[in-house]
Amino acid sequence: MKIAVCVKQVPDATSARRIDSATNRLDRSGEGALNATDVNAVEEALRIKEAHGGEVVVVSFGPAKALDSLRKALAMGADRALLVSDEAAAGSDLVATSYALAKALEREGADLVLFGQQSSDSDGAVLWAAVADRLRRPLISQVADLGVDGSSVTGKRQTEFGYDVISAPLPVVVAVSDAINEPRYPSLKGIMGAKSKPAETVSLADIGVEPERAGTSGSRTTVLALAPPPAKGDQIKIEDDGSAAEKLVDWLAERKLL
Ligand SMILES: Cc1cc2nc3c(=O)[nH]c(=O)nc-3n(C[C@H](O)[C@H](O)[C@H](O)COP(=O)(O)OP(=O)(O)OC[C@H]3O[C@@H](n4cnc5c(N)ncnc54)[C@H](O)[C@@H]3O)c2cc1C
Repeated sequence: MKIAVCVKQVPDATSARRIDSATNRLDRSGEGALNATDVNAVEEALRIKEAHGGEVVVVSFGPAKALDSLRKALAMGADRALLVSDEAAAGSDLVATSYALAKALEREGADLVLFGQQSSDSDGAVLWAAVADRLRRPLISQVADLGVDGSSVTGKRQTEFGYDVISAPLPVVVAVSDAINEPRYPSLKGIMGAKSKPAETVSLADIGVEPERAGTSGSRTTVLALAPPPAKGDQIKIEDDGSAAEKLVDWLAERKLL
């Protein structure tokens, strides 16, 4: 079985978030890391490969330095990496990103395309739906348990009220939740081996993306203005010396919130 896992490099969780006022975009120039929930998707792909055989390729759309983060997936055990990177891609929104990723995935022709739940920088939790739609493939999202046989997958999907159990034929797109597994840590051997695994960087032209469908020209979102979150208003800090609950109730009652 051929499995493609879509992964994104996001700003490292410890770095401060800053908006570039010239472009109205997130400043992604600092340290990058592999998006946390995508690590669950990589782990799930590796488990499926271990059980059924096949190949795991990680696919990303991002700046050249995203390759550093793809190496983590290779160190975990993925077989190869494909990065779509191009100056003309800067400023791509969901519409342009989903188009480029779908084109890259068409080229790969995987039986199963896995996504993480959401990226920690944009938090859209929607890209997988757009990509599945472009590929005209079924999609199961929020999957907390995934079963695979030769011709279909069955996903246990987390909902507000319990679980849905959904089966779909291959080829299929699945977005996993972070409850699906406990990702492994890359071993030292894995980290050393990752350096010699195939990691290909391709341009938009290489995967057949027309220039007008990428970057700002291929995007449908216009950011009109950005502002910092409003300052927090009336607030107190209660240290718990045994009377915290009482103080909290008084505070809420004073504001007629009880
Ligand atoms: C006007 C505008 C300009 C933007 N400019 C840029 C920019 O210049 N550079 C930039 O990096 N982002 C940019 N973005 C954000 C970018 O469009 C989003 O990252 C993208 O649409 C995916 O949405 P998300 O990150 O919310 O992903 P989600 O929907 O939260 O992601 C779900 C899953 O999709 C996968 N995924 C997400 N993004 C990628 C990716 N790029 N490659 C592979 N898999 C992925 C991961 O598995 C992730 O867990 C811009 C957004 C807007 C609105």
